[in-house]
Amino acid sequence: MYKITKSGWLEVITGPMYCGKSEELIRRLRRVKIAKQKIKVFKPVLDNRYSKKDVVSHSGDSIEAVPVDHPEEILERIDNTVDVVGIDEAQFFHEDLVPICEELADQGIRVILAGLDRDFRNQPFGPMPELMARAEYVDKLHAICIQCGEPASRTQRLIDGEPAAADDPVILVGAAEVYEARCRSCHAIKG
Ligand code: ADP
Ligand code: ZN
Repeated sequence: MYKITKSGWLEVITGPMYCGKSEELIRRLRRVKIAKQKIKVFKPVLDNRYSKKDVVSHSGDSIEAVPVDHPEEILERIDNTVDVVGIDEAQFFHEDLVPICEELADQGIRVILAGLDRDFRNQPFGPMPELMARAEYVDKLHAICIQCGEPASRTQRLIDGEPAAADDPVILVGAAEVYEARCRSCHAIKG
């Protein structure tokens, strides 16, 4: 997909952790740069998985991004020379992200969003369902299930090696917490 018309649109790249959302976002943005179009990339401040500034994939690819607290800041940082806006970890943004992305697309901007479709409880995550419904293009990617090797559509949360309960606190002090990709059969929630 290239921005060859005057019209903007929304693209969503989604799926569980490790499915390659950041990799795919970076790939699309790299191609936009090759086409000499102007990009601006954003991510929520709270995602500092590897870098406070860049979008970084698990395989080590990266592209420069601006960390923002609130989606309003995205509008403030866009001028009329921008062709494409990339947004990573979109699930962590406030629901206000939805009208802001619509406004950008209405202004003729191609908006590419990457984010988790569901949380570890398997519940739709933040603004993602609404974005997926409104997008012109949606790609659901799969990871590989760590347990059985099948395509993985879910994110498993483990606390000290055991499946987390739906009501376990988001931040745990002193516990070893990991997330992994799992399929429908292998995904588990305690209790
Ligand atoms: P996401 O943004 O969806 O979390 P990334 O783009 O950061 O994913 O990382 C995708 C990369 O993660 C894959 O190309 C692969 O190298 C690596 N990876 C690690 N664990 C898995 C897994 N269980 N399934 C698929 N890829 C995995
Ligand atoms: Zn499995």
